[in-house]
Amino acid sequence: MPQDAVPFAIRFDTEQLCIGGTWRAAAGGQTLALANPSDGRTLARIARGGAADIDAAVAAAHAALAGDWGRMSAAERGRVLGAIGRKVQDHVEPLAMLEALDVGKPLKQGRADALALARYLEFYGGAADKVHGDTLPFQNGYTALTWREPHGVTGHIVPWNYPMQIGGRSVGAALAMGNACVLKPAEEACLTVLAFARIASEAGLPAGALNVVTGLRNEAGAALAAHPGVQHLSFTGSVATGMLIQAAAAKNAVPVTLELGGKSPQIVFADADLDAALPHLVNAGLQNAGQTCSAASRILVERSVFDAVRERMAERYRALRIGPATDDFDMGPVISKRQQSIVEHFLALGRDSGLRIAAQGTLPAGLPAGGCYVRPTLFDAVPADHALAQQEIFGPVQVLIAFDGEAEALRIANGTAFGLVAGVWTRDGGRALRKARALKCGQMFVNNYGAGGGVELPFGGVKHSGHGREKGFEALYGFSTLKTVAIHHG
Ligand code: NAD
Repeated sequence: MPQDAVPFAIRFDTEQLCIGGTWRAAAGGQTLALANPSDGRTLARIARGGAADIDAAVAAAHAALAGDWGRMSAAERGRVLGAIGRKVQDHVEPLAMLEALDVGKPLKQGRADALALARYLEFYGGAADKVHGDTLPFQNGYTALTWREPHGVTGHIVPWNYPMQIGGRSVGAALAMGNACVLKPAEEACLTVLAFARIASEAGLPAGALNVVTGLRNEAGAALAAHPGVQHLSFTGSVATGMLIQAAAAKNAVPVTLELGGKSPQIVFADADLDAALPHLVNAGLQNAGQTCSAASRILVERSVFDAVRERMAERYRALRIGPATDDFDMGPVISKRQQSIVEHFLALGRDSGLRIAAQGTLPAGLPAGGCYVRPTLFDAVPADHALAQQEIFGPVQVLIAFDGEAEALRIANGTAFGLVAGVWTRDGGRALRKARALKCGQMFVNNYGAGGGVELPFGGVKHSGHGREKGFEALYGFSTLKTVAIHHG
Protein backbone atom coordinates (compact mmCIF):
# COMPACT_ATOMS: atom_id res chain seq x y z
CA MET A 1 0.00 0.00 0.00
CA PRO A 2 1.59 3.28 -1.03
CA GLN A 3 -0.28 5.20 1.67
CA ASP A 4 1.68 4.09 4.72
CA ALA A 5 0.74 7.45 6.20
CA VAL A 6 -2.72 6.01 6.83
CA PRO A 7 -2.53 3.98 10.03
CA PHE A 8 -4.50 0.79 9.97
CA ALA A 9 -4.03 -2.65 11.42
CA ILE A 10 -5.63 -4.37 8.44
CA ARG A 11 -3.76 -3.65 5.22
CA PHE A 12 -5.68 -2.29 2.29
CA ASP A 13 -4.67 -0.21 -0.68
CA THR A 14 -6.57 3.06 -0.78
CA GLU A 15 -5.93 3.26 -4.54
CA GLN A 16 -7.89 0.10 -5.25
CA LEU A 17 -11.55 -0.79 -5.64
CA CYS A 18 -13.14 -3.87 -4.07
CA ILE A 19 -14.96 -5.76 -6.83
CA GLY A 20 -16.00 -9.40 -6.64
CA GLY A 21 -13.71 -10.09 -3.69
CA THR A 22 -10.59 -8.83 -5.45
CA TRP A 23 -8.85 -5.48 -5.13
CA ARG A 24 -7.91 -3.71 -8.32
CA ALA A 25 -7.10 -0.28 -9.74
CA ALA A 26 -9.81 1.66 -11.56
CA ALA A 27 -10.27 0.55 -15.16
CA GLY A 28 -9.14 3.99 -16.32
CA GLY A 29 -6.01 3.75 -14.15
CA GLN A 30 -6.58 7.16 -12.59
CA THR A 31 -6.54 8.23 -8.95
CA LEU A 32 -7.80 11.21 -6.94
CA ALA A 33 -6.19 12.98 -3.99
CA LEU A 34 -7.95 12.93 -0.60
CA ALA A 35 -7.21 15.96 1.56
CA ASN A 36 -6.89 15.92 5.34
CA PRO A 37 -9.34 18.66 6.43
CA SER A 38 -7.31 19.38 9.57
CA ASP A 39 -4.25 20.62 7.68
CA GLY A 40 -5.09 20.57 3.96
CA ARG A 41 -2.32 18.10 3.15
CA THR A 42 -2.86 15.05 0.94
CA LEU A 43 -3.87 12.16 3.17
CA ALA A 44 -4.05 9.44 0.54
CA ARG A 45 -4.98 8.80 -3.06
CA ILE A 46 -8.09 6.86 -4.03
CA ALA A 47 -9.10 5.10 -7.24
CA ARG A 48 -11.13 7.18 -9.68
CA GLY A 49 -13.68 4.49 -10.52
CA GLY A 50 -15.98 5.07 -13.48
CA ALA A 51 -18.75 3.47 -15.51
CA ALA A 52 -16.66 0.40 -16.44
CA ASP A 53 -15.91 -0.27 -12.77
CA ILE A 54 -19.58 0.11 -11.84
CA ASP A 55 -20.45 -2.37 -14.62
CA ALA A 56 -17.93 -4.82 -13.18
CA ALA A 57 -19.20 -4.30 -9.61
CA VAL A 58 -22.84 -4.83 -10.61
CA ALA A 59 -21.86 -7.99 -12.52
CA ALA A 60 -19.91 -9.24 -9.47
CA ALA A 61 -22.94 -8.59 -7.24
CA HIS A 62 -25.20 -10.59 -9.59
CA ALA A 63 -22.62 -13.40 -9.60
CA ALA A 64 -22.62 -13.40 -5.78
CA LEU A 65 -26.43 -13.74 -5.75
CA ALA A 66 -26.13 -16.72 -8.11
CA GLY A 67 -23.31 -18.19 -6.02
CA ASP A 68 -22.26 -18.73 -2.39
CA TRP A 69 -23.90 -15.57 -1.05
CA GLY A 70 -27.25 -16.24 -2.69
CA ARG A 71 -27.29 -19.81 -1.38
CA MET A 72 -26.77 -18.86 2.27
CA SER A 73 -29.67 -19.26 4.67
CA ALA A 74 -30.82 -16.23 6.64
CA ALA A 75 -29.20 -17.65 9.79
CA GLU A 76 -25.87 -18.08 7.96
CA ARG A 77 -26.03 -14.51 6.70
CA GLY A 78 -26.69 -13.34 10.23
CA ARG A 79 -23.67 -15.25 11.52
CA VAL A 80 -21.41 -13.65 8.90
CA LEU A 81 -22.68 -10.16 9.75
CA GLY A 82 -22.09 -10.87 13.44
CA ALA A 83 -18.52 -11.96 12.67
CA ILE A 84 -17.91 -8.74 10.71
CA GLY A 85 -19.29 -6.73 13.62
CA ARG A 86 -16.92 -8.44 16.05
CA LYS A 87 -13.97 -7.75 13.75
CA VAL A 88 -15.00 -4.09 13.52
CA GLN A 89 -15.13 -4.04 17.33
CA ASP A 90 -11.52 -5.31 17.41
CA HIS A 91 -10.48 -2.37 15.20
CA VAL A 92 -12.32 0.52 16.80
CA GLU A 93 -9.19 2.56 17.47
CA PRO A 94 -7.65 2.42 13.96
CA LEU A 95 -11.07 2.98 12.39
CA ALA A 96 -11.61 6.01 14.67
CA MET A 97 -8.21 7.40 13.69
CA LEU A 98 -8.91 6.88 10.00
CA GLU A 99 -12.30 8.61 10.23
CA ALA A 100 -10.76 11.49 12.21
CA LEU A 101 -8.04 12.00 9.59
CA ASP A 102 -10.40 11.68 6.63
CA VAL A 103 -13.50 13.57 7.84
CA GLY A 104 -11.85 15.94 10.34
CA LYS A 105 -14.01 14.85 13.27
CA PRO A 106 -12.55 14.58 16.78
CA LEU A 107 -11.25 11.13 17.66
CA LYS A 108 -13.98 10.55 20.26
CA GLN A 109 -16.60 11.00 17.53
CA GLY A 110 -14.67 8.63 15.24
CA ARG A 111 -14.69 6.10 18.07
CA ALA A 112 -18.46 6.51 18.52
CA ASP A 113 -18.92 5.99 14.76
CA ALA A 114 -16.83 2.79 14.75
CA LEU A 115 -18.81 1.43 17.69
CA ALA A 116 -22.04 2.33 15.88
CA LEU A 117 -20.83 0.44 12.81
CA ALA A 118 -20.16 -2.63 14.97
CA ARG A 119 -23.59 -2.25 16.56
CA TYR A 120 -25.35 -2.03 13.17
CA LEU A 121 -23.74 -5.33 12.16
CA GLU A 122 -24.64 -6.92 15.49
CA PHE A 123 -28.23 -5.67 15.20
CA TYR A 124 -28.75 -6.68 11.56
CA GLY A 125 -26.86 -9.95 12.05
CA GLY A 126 -29.30 -10.82 14.83
CA ALA A 127 -32.31 -9.72 12.79
CA ALA A 128 -31.46 -11.59 9.56
CA ASP A 129 -33.43 -14.74 10.45
CA LYS A 130 -36.28 -12.98 12.24
CA VAL A 131 -38.03 -11.39 9.30
CA HIS A 132 -41.04 -13.48 8.34
CA GLY A 133 -44.27 -13.27 6.41
CA ASP A 134 -47.90 -14.00 7.26
CA THR A 135 -50.63 -16.46 6.50
CA LEU A 136 -53.70 -14.58 5.38
CA PRO A 137 -57.39 -15.34 5.96
CA PHE A 138 -58.73 -15.83 2.41
CA GLN A 139 -61.39 -17.70 0.45
CA ASN A 140 -62.29 -21.26 1.37
CA GLY A 141 -60.15 -23.76 -0.50
CA TYR A 142 -57.07 -21.52 -0.51
CA THR A 143 -54.02 -21.05 1.67
CA ALA A 144 -52.52 -17.59 1.18
CA LEU A 145 -49.18 -16.51 2.54
CA THR A 146 -46.48 -13.87 2.18
CA TRP A 147 -42.71 -13.82 2.54
CA ARG A 148 -39.95 -11.31 2.02
CA GLU A 149 -37.33 -11.59 -0.69
CA PRO A 150 -34.25 -9.47 -1.40
CA HIS A 151 -34.48 -6.93 -4.23
CA GLY A 152 -31.30 -8.39 -5.75
CA VAL A 153 -28.46 -5.93 -6.39
CA THR A 154 -28.74 -2.78 -4.29
CA GLY A 155 -26.84 0.45 -4.97
CA HIS A 156 -25.73 2.57 -1.99
CA ILE A 157 -24.53 6.14 -2.41
CA VAL A 158 -23.30 7.68 0.85
CA PRO A 159 -21.99 11.12 1.85
CA TRP A 160 -18.73 12.19 3.47
CA ASN A 161 -19.97 13.25 6.88
CA TYR A 162 -20.42 9.76 8.41
CA PRO A 163 -19.04 7.31 5.81
CA MET A 164 -18.57 4.51 8.32
CA GLN A 165 -21.93 4.83 10.08
CA ILE A 166 -24.06 5.53 7.02
CA GLY A 167 -22.27 2.97 4.86
CA GLY A 168 -22.66 0.36 7.59
CA ARG A 169 -26.31 1.00 8.38
CA SER A 170 -27.25 0.85 4.73
CA VAL A 171 -25.35 -2.25 3.60
CA GLY A 172 -25.88 -3.93 7.00
CA ALA A 173 -29.64 -4.02 6.48
CA ALA A 174 -29.36 -4.84 2.76
CA LEU A 175 -26.99 -7.77 3.36
CA ALA A 176 -29.14 -9.09 6.21
CA MET A 177 -32.01 -9.43 3.73
CA GLY A 178 -29.80 -11.24 1.20
CA ASN A 179 -29.12 -8.47 -1.31
CA ALA A 180 -25.69 -7.99 -2.89
CA CYS A 181 -24.41 -4.42 -2.62
CA VAL A 182 -22.50 -1.91 -4.70
CA LEU A 183 -21.39 0.96 -2.47
CA LYS A 184 -20.19 4.33 -3.79
CA PRO A 185 -18.77 6.47 -0.99
CA ALA A 186 -18.16 10.20 -1.35
CA GLU A 187 -15.00 11.41 -3.03
CA GLU A 188 -14.27 13.75 -0.09
CA ALA A 189 -13.97 10.95 2.52
CA CYS A 190 -14.12 7.20 1.99
CA LEU A 191 -11.20 5.44 3.68
CA THR A 192 -13.22 3.76 6.43
CA VAL A 193 -15.59 2.36 3.81
CA LEU A 194 -12.63 0.71 2.06
CA ALA A 195 -11.33 -0.53 5.42
CA PHE A 196 -14.79 -1.92 6.21
CA ALA A 197 -14.85 -3.86 2.90
CA ARG A 198 -11.49 -5.39 3.78
CA ILE A 199 -12.67 -6.31 7.29
CA ALA A 200 -15.87 -7.82 5.89
CA SER A 201 -14.03 -10.11 3.48
CA GLU A 202 -11.55 -11.16 6.20
CA ALA A 203 -14.51 -11.99 8.45
CA GLY A 204 -15.96 -14.33 5.83
CA LEU A 205 -18.33 -12.28 3.65
CA PRO A 206 -18.47 -14.14 0.32
CA ALA A 207 -16.89 -12.45 -2.70
CA GLY A 208 -19.15 -10.01 -4.52
CA ALA A 209 -21.69 -9.56 -1.70
CA LEU A 210 -20.19 -6.13 -1.00
CA ASN A 211 -18.43 -4.18 -3.74
CA VAL A 212 -16.94 -0.72 -3.18
CA VAL A 213 -16.25 1.68 -6.04
CA THR A 214 -14.72 5.05 -5.12
CA GLY A 215 -14.82 7.92 -7.57
CA LEU A 216 -16.44 11.15 -8.57
CA ARG A 217 -20.11 12.00 -8.21
CA ASN A 218 -20.78 12.54 -11.92
CA GLU A 219 -18.74 9.47 -12.94
CA ALA A 220 -19.01 6.48 -10.57
CA GLY A 221 -22.00 8.03 -8.76
CA ALA A 222 -24.06 8.79 -11.85
CA ALA A 223 -23.16 5.40 -13.41
CA LEU A 224 -24.40 3.53 -10.33
CA ALA A 225 -27.64 5.54 -10.09
CA ALA A 226 -28.45 4.90 -13.76
CA HIS A 227 -27.35 1.26 -13.96
CA PRO A 228 -30.11 -1.03 -15.30
CA GLY A 229 -28.67 -3.97 -13.34
CA VAL A 230 -29.41 -2.33 -9.97
CA GLN A 231 -32.76 -3.22 -8.39
CA HIS A 232 -32.88 -0.74 -5.49
CA LEU A 233 -31.10 2.52 -4.73
CA SER A 234 -30.35 3.87 -1.28
CA PHE A 235 -29.09 7.44 -1.27
CA THR A 236 -27.97 9.68 1.59
CA GLY A 237 -26.94 13.20 0.72
CA SER A 238 -28.23 16.57 -0.39
CA VAL A 239 -31.74 17.35 -1.60
CA ALA A 240 -30.56 18.41 -5.05
CA THR A 241 -28.66 15.18 -5.63
CA GLY A 242 -31.49 13.13 -4.13
CA MET A 243 -33.84 14.48 -6.77
CA LEU A 244 -31.38 13.44 -9.50
CA ILE A 245 -31.13 9.96 -7.99
CA GLN A 246 -34.91 9.63 -7.86
CA ALA A 247 -35.12 10.65 -11.53
CA ALA A 248 -32.43 8.10 -12.44
CA ALA A 249 -34.27 5.40 -10.47
CA ALA A 250 -37.50 6.29 -12.27
CA LYS A 251 -35.88 5.57 -15.63
CA ASN A 252 -35.27 1.98 -14.49
CA ALA A 253 -38.50 1.84 -12.44
CA VAL A 254 -36.64 0.78 -9.29
CA PRO A 255 -37.47 1.76 -5.69
CA VAL A 256 -35.34 4.37 -3.98
CA THR A 257 -34.74 5.40 -0.38
CA LEU A 258 -33.74 9.04 0.08
CA GLU A 259 -32.14 10.31 3.30
CA LEU A 260 -31.69 14.02 2.64
CA GLY A 261 -31.04 17.15 4.62
CA GLY A 262 -32.71 18.90 7.53
CA LYS A 263 -33.24 22.10 9.48
CA SER A 264 -34.22 20.35 12.67
CA PRO A 265 -35.63 22.26 15.65
CA GLN A 266 -35.27 21.73 19.38
CA ILE A 267 -38.18 23.43 21.14
CA VAL A 268 -37.57 24.60 24.70
CA PHE A 269 -40.66 25.40 26.75
CA ALA A 270 -40.44 27.54 29.88
CA ASP A 271 -41.12 24.54 32.13
CA ALA A 272 -38.19 22.52 30.73
CA ASP A 273 -35.36 21.16 32.83
CA LEU A 274 -32.74 23.52 31.40
CA ASP A 275 -29.82 21.75 33.08
CA ALA A 276 -30.75 18.57 31.24
CA ALA A 277 -31.45 20.37 27.97
CA LEU A 278 -28.35 22.56 27.75
CA PRO A 279 -25.72 20.04 26.63
CA HIS A 280 -28.11 18.66 23.99
CA LEU A 281 -29.03 22.11 22.69
CA VAL A 282 -25.40 22.87 21.85
CA ASN A 283 -23.89 19.44 21.12
CA ALA A 284 -26.65 18.36 18.74
CA GLY A 285 -25.93 21.47 16.68
CA LEU A 286 -22.13 21.29 16.70
CA GLN A 287 -21.40 17.56 16.54
CA ASN A 288 -19.13 16.87 13.58
CA ALA A 289 -18.82 20.67 13.14
CA GLY A 290 -22.54 20.85 12.40
CA GLN A 291 -22.20 18.56 9.38
CA THR A 292 -24.89 16.17 10.50
CA CYS A 293 -28.17 15.72 8.64
CA SER A 294 -30.05 15.65 11.94
CA ALA A 295 -28.16 18.63 13.41
CA ALA A 296 -30.38 20.70 15.68
CA SER A 297 -29.66 23.92 13.83
CA ARG A 298 -32.76 25.80 15.08
CA ILE A 299 -33.27 26.36 18.79
CA LEU A 300 -36.81 27.61 19.49
CA VAL A 301 -37.17 29.03 23.00
CA GLU A 302 -40.27 30.25 24.84
CA ARG A 303 -39.84 33.97 25.39
CA SER A 304 -39.86 33.92 29.22
CA VAL A 305 -36.69 31.76 29.31
CA PHE A 306 -35.13 33.04 26.09
CA ASP A 307 -32.44 35.22 27.70
CA ALA A 308 -31.46 32.51 30.17
CA VAL A 309 -31.11 29.89 27.44
CA ARG A 310 -29.14 32.26 25.21
CA GLU A 311 -26.69 33.12 28.01
CA ARG A 312 -26.15 29.51 28.99
CA MET A 313 -25.65 28.40 25.39
CA ALA A 314 -23.28 31.32 24.84
CA GLU A 315 -21.14 30.21 27.79
CA ARG A 316 -20.75 26.81 26.16
CA TYR A 317 -19.83 28.33 22.81
CA ARG A 318 -17.15 30.46 24.44
CA ALA A 319 -15.65 27.41 26.18
CA LEU A 320 -15.38 25.29 23.01
CA ARG A 321 -11.92 23.95 22.19
CA ILE A 322 -11.25 23.72 18.47
CA GLY A 323 -8.34 22.09 16.68
CA PRO A 324 -7.04 19.25 14.49
CA ALA A 325 -9.21 16.16 14.64
CA THR A 326 -6.56 13.86 16.05
CA ASP A 327 -5.97 16.24 18.99
CA ASP A 328 -9.52 15.29 20.02
CA PHE A 329 -10.85 18.71 21.01
CA ASP A 330 -14.58 19.56 21.08
CA MET A 331 -14.67 20.44 17.39
CA GLY A 332 -12.48 19.92 14.35
CA PRO A 333 -12.51 21.54 10.90
CA VAL A 334 -15.27 21.23 8.31
CA ILE A 335 -14.66 18.78 5.48
CA SER A 336 -13.22 21.03 2.77
CA LYS A 337 -12.37 24.54 1.64
CA ARG A 338 -15.60 24.45 -0.36
CA GLN A 339 -17.66 23.68 2.76
CA GLN A 340 -15.71 26.34 4.67
CA SER A 341 -16.67 28.97 2.10
CA ILE A 342 -20.34 27.87 2.20
CA VAL A 343 -20.41 28.34 5.98
CA GLU A 344 -18.59 31.68 5.71
CA HIS A 345 -21.13 32.81 3.12
CA PHE A 346 -23.95 32.20 5.62
CA LEU A 347 -22.04 33.97 8.42
CA ALA A 348 -21.61 37.00 6.15
CA LEU A 349 -25.28 36.86 5.17
CA GLY A 350 -26.26 36.94 8.84
CA ARG A 351 -23.99 39.86 9.60
CA ASP A 352 -25.03 41.79 6.46
CA SER A 353 -28.71 41.44 7.30
CA GLY A 354 -28.11 42.86 10.78
CA LEU A 355 -28.51 39.70 12.83
CA ARG A 356 -26.91 39.80 16.28
CA ILE A 357 -24.36 37.14 17.20
CA ALA A 358 -25.03 35.74 20.68
CA ALA A 359 -21.69 33.92 20.86
CA GLN A 360 -18.85 32.57 18.78
CA GLY A 361 -16.15 30.03 19.51
CA THR A 362 -12.54 31.12 19.17
CA LEU A 363 -10.08 29.69 16.69
CA PRO A 364 -6.81 29.30 18.61
CA ALA A 365 -3.58 30.72 17.22
CA GLY A 366 -1.35 28.26 15.40
CA LEU A 367 -4.01 26.18 13.64
CA PRO A 368 -2.57 24.60 10.46
CA ALA A 369 -2.95 27.17 7.68
CA GLY A 370 -4.35 24.65 5.19
CA GLY A 371 -7.05 23.44 7.62
CA CYS A 372 -10.74 24.14 7.03
CA TYR A 373 -11.67 25.78 10.33
CA VAL A 374 -14.69 27.99 10.92
CA ARG A 375 -15.86 29.72 14.09
CA PRO A 376 -18.92 28.06 15.59
CA THR A 377 -21.58 30.75 15.74
CA LEU A 378 -24.85 31.20 17.61
CA PHE A 379 -27.17 33.81 16.08
CA ASP A 380 -29.58 35.63 18.39
CA ALA A 381 -33.32 36.22 17.89
CA VAL A 382 -33.43 35.23 14.23
CA PRO A 383 -36.72 35.78 12.35
CA ALA A 384 -38.19 32.37 11.50
CA ASP A 385 -38.33 33.17 7.78
CA HIS A 386 -34.70 34.36 7.49
CA ALA A 387 -32.43 32.33 5.19
CA LEU A 388 -30.34 31.29 8.21
CA ALA A 389 -33.47 29.81 9.80
CA GLN A 390 -34.67 28.15 6.60
CA GLN A 391 -31.69 26.76 4.69
CA GLU A 392 -29.45 23.89 5.67
CA ILE A 393 -25.99 25.35 6.32
CA PHE A 394 -24.21 22.09 7.17
CA GLY A 395 -21.72 23.81 9.44
CA PRO A 396 -21.39 24.85 13.10
CA VAL A 397 -24.07 27.52 13.01
CA GLN A 398 -27.23 27.60 15.16
CA VAL A 399 -30.03 30.14 15.26
CA LEU A 400 -32.07 31.08 18.32
CA ILE A 401 -35.73 31.86 17.65
CA ALA A 402 -38.15 33.17 20.29
CA PHE A 403 -41.78 32.02 20.45
CA ASP A 404 -44.91 32.67 22.50
CA GLY A 405 -47.01 29.59 23.28
CA GLU A 406 -47.50 26.17 21.77
CA ALA A 407 -49.24 27.19 18.58
CA GLU A 408 -46.50 29.56 17.49
CA ALA A 409 -43.79 27.02 18.38
CA LEU A 410 -45.48 24.45 16.17
CA ARG A 411 -45.95 26.85 13.28
CA ILE A 412 -42.26 27.83 13.33
CA ALA A 413 -41.03 24.25 13.84
CA ASN A 414 -43.02 22.98 10.86
CA GLY A 415 -42.32 26.07 8.77
CA THR A 416 -39.39 24.90 6.63
CA ALA A 417 -39.08 22.71 3.55
CA PHE A 418 -37.53 19.96 5.72
CA GLY A 419 -38.86 17.42 8.21
CA LEU A 420 -36.17 15.14 9.56
CA VAL A 421 -35.89 15.32 13.37
CA ALA A 422 -37.38 17.46 16.16
CA GLY A 423 -36.86 17.69 19.92
CA VAL A 424 -39.18 19.05 22.61
CA TRP A 425 -38.11 19.97 26.13
CA THR A 426 -41.00 20.23 28.61
CA ARG A 427 -42.19 18.75 31.89
CA ASP A 428 -45.80 18.72 30.62
CA GLY A 429 -46.52 15.20 29.33
CA GLY A 430 -49.70 16.21 27.52
CA ARG A 431 -47.89 18.95 25.65
CA ALA A 432 -45.08 16.57 24.69
CA LEU A 433 -47.60 14.14 23.20
CA ARG A 434 -49.49 16.90 21.38
CA LYS A 435 -46.22 18.01 19.81
CA ALA A 436 -45.27 14.42 18.93
CA ARG A 437 -48.53 14.16 16.98
CA ALA A 438 -48.28 17.54 15.28
CA LEU A 439 -44.63 17.92 14.31
CA LYS A 440 -43.90 17.09 10.67
CA CYS A 441 -40.77 14.97 10.92
CA GLY A 442 -39.53 11.39 10.79
CA GLN A 443 -38.10 11.21 14.31
CA MET A 444 -39.12 13.15 17.38
CA PHE A 445 -37.48 13.26 20.80
CA VAL A 446 -38.95 14.31 24.15
CA ASN A 447 -36.49 15.56 26.79
CA ASN A 448 -33.51 14.24 24.81
CA TYR A 449 -32.21 14.62 21.30
CA GLY A 450 -30.84 11.82 19.16
CA ALA A 451 -31.14 9.06 21.81
CA GLY A 452 -27.41 8.44 21.51
CA GLY A 453 -27.61 7.36 17.88
CA GLY A 454 -30.40 4.80 18.19
CA VAL A 455 -29.34 2.03 15.81
CA GLU A 456 -32.66 0.31 16.62
CA LEU A 457 -34.80 3.36 15.81
CA PRO A 458 -36.17 3.84 12.26
CA PHE A 459 -34.74 7.03 10.78
CA GLY A 460 -35.66 9.17 7.81
CA GLY A 461 -37.63 12.20 6.83
CA VAL A 462 -40.73 13.75 5.34
CA LYS A 463 -40.98 16.63 2.86
CA HIS A 464 -37.54 17.55 1.43
CA SER A 465 -35.81 15.44 4.06
CA GLY A 466 -36.62 12.39 1.95
CA HIS A 467 -38.62 9.20 2.15
CA GLY A 468 -38.12 5.60 3.17
CA ARG A 469 -36.51 4.55 6.42
CA GLU A 470 -33.01 3.43 7.33
CA LYS A 471 -32.05 1.92 10.71
CA GLY A 472 -34.04 -0.37 12.95
CA PHE A 473 -36.19 -3.24 11.73
CA GLU A 474 -38.00 -0.95 9.31
CA ALA A 475 -34.93 -0.81 7.05
CA LEU A 476 -35.19 -4.57 6.53
CA TYR A 477 -38.61 -4.07 4.97
CA GLY A 478 -37.20 -1.37 2.69
CA PHE A 479 -34.40 -3.65 1.53
CA SER A 480 -36.80 -6.45 0.63
CA THR A 481 -39.90 -6.99 -1.42
CA LEU A 482 -43.04 -8.88 -0.38
CA LYS A 483 -44.22 -11.89 -2.33
CA THR A 484 -47.81 -13.13 -1.94
CA VAL A 485 -48.58 -16.78 -2.69
CA ALA A 486 -52.17 -18.10 -3.03
CA ILE A 487 -52.45 -21.90 -3.11
CA HIS A 488 -55.73 -23.43 -4.28
CA HIS A 489 -56.18 -26.85 -2.74
CA GLY A 490 -59.95 -27.17 -2.71
P1 NAD B 1 -24.12 15.20 -2.06
O1 NAD B 1 -25.53 15.00 -2.43
O2 NAD B 1 -23.32 16.19 -2.78
O3 NAD B 1 -23.31 13.82 -2.19
C1 NAD B 1 -23.72 12.64 -1.56
C2 NAD B 1 -23.23 11.45 -2.35
O4 NAD B 1 -23.84 11.47 -3.63
C3 NAD B 1 -21.72 11.42 -2.60
O5 NAD B 1 -21.26 10.08 -2.58
C4 NAD B 1 -21.60 11.96 -4.01
O6 NAD B 1 -20.45 11.52 -4.70
C5 NAD B 1 -22.85 11.39 -4.64
N1 NAD B 1 -23.36 12.13 -5.79
C6 NAD B 1 -23.36 13.46 -5.99
N2 NAD B 1 -23.93 13.78 -7.17
C7 NAD B 1 -24.31 12.61 -7.74
C8 NAD B 1 -24.97 12.27 -8.95
N3 NAD B 1 -25.34 13.20 -9.82
N4 NAD B 1 -25.23 10.97 -9.20
C9 NAD B 1 -24.87 10.02 -8.31
N5 NAD B 1 -24.23 10.28 -7.15
C10 NAD B 1 -23.95 11.56 -6.86
O7 NAD B 1 -24.15 15.49 -0.52
P2 NAD B 1 -22.93 15.80 0.43
O8 NAD B 1 -22.47 17.19 0.24
O9 NAD B 1 -21.91 14.73 0.25
O10 NAD B 1 -23.62 15.61 1.88
C11 NAD B 1 -24.28 16.64 2.50
C12 NAD B 1 -25.79 16.44 2.45
O11 NAD B 1 -26.16 15.12 2.85
C13 NAD B 1 -26.50 17.35 3.40
O12 NAD B 1 -27.59 17.94 2.76
C14 NAD B 1 -26.98 16.42 4.51
O13 NAD B 1 -28.09 16.86 5.20
C15 NAD B 1 -27.22 15.16 3.78
N6 NAD B 1 -27.15 14.01 4.69
C16 NAD B 1 -28.31 13.37 5.02
C17 NAD B 1 -28.29 12.29 5.90
C18 NAD B 1 -29.55 11.56 6.28
O14 NAD B 1 -29.48 10.44 6.75
N7 NAD B 1 -30.72 12.14 6.10
C19 NAD B 1 -27.08 11.87 6.43
C20 NAD B 1 -25.92 12.55 6.08
C21 NAD B 1 -25.97 13.62 5.18
